[in-house]
Amino acid sequence: MKRAVFPGSFDPITLGHVDIIDRGLELFDEIIIAIGINADKKYMFTLEQRKEFIEKTFINEPRVKVMTYSGLTIDFCKEQKAPFILRGLRNPADFEFEKAIAHTNSKLSTIETIFLLTSPDTSYISSSIVRDVIRNNGDYTILVPDTVKS
Ligand code: ADP
Repeated sequence: MKRAVFPGSFDPITLGHVDIIDRGLELFDEIIIAIGINADKKYMFTLEQRKEFIEKTFINEPRVKVMTYSGLTIDFCKEQKAPFILRGLRNPADFEFEKAIAHTNSKLSTIETIFLLTSPDTSYISSSIVRDVIRNNGDYTILVPDTVKS
């Protein structure tokens, strides 16, 4: 059983995340979507709302699990017996940031990070842009799965 953890804030889940998860399911038997709890971060949606949006999106996909965690992602992966971390890459800034984290994780563990490049259709989407559109009463619904309600 090949299991991967897809960690993130998912505030909220977007069509970009969904694309990475759908494509990840071609590579892995099971994907744990892991919502990181960071006490220092301010979120637009509560942890319960973020979890529910993801659960409802993948209600018909038993190979997707949704969990929350705090602490190091590699420790969570070890607990869950997941040797892979899945991440999406949108642009050079993502690459530089992710490279440092992946190198650190591989120094600290044997967990391998697998990157998928974004699809051209969703590469511009980010949760922060979605939050901005919501705050300014724009039509955010074209950027997120229809389970996300503001
Ligand atoms: P974090 O706070 O860890 O960046 P996010 O929820 O913003 O959490 O992102 C989680 C993962 O999803 C990251 O690997 C990020 O690069 C990826 N991701 C975010 N938006 C997109 C997108 N539009 N296309 C592909 N991957 C994306």
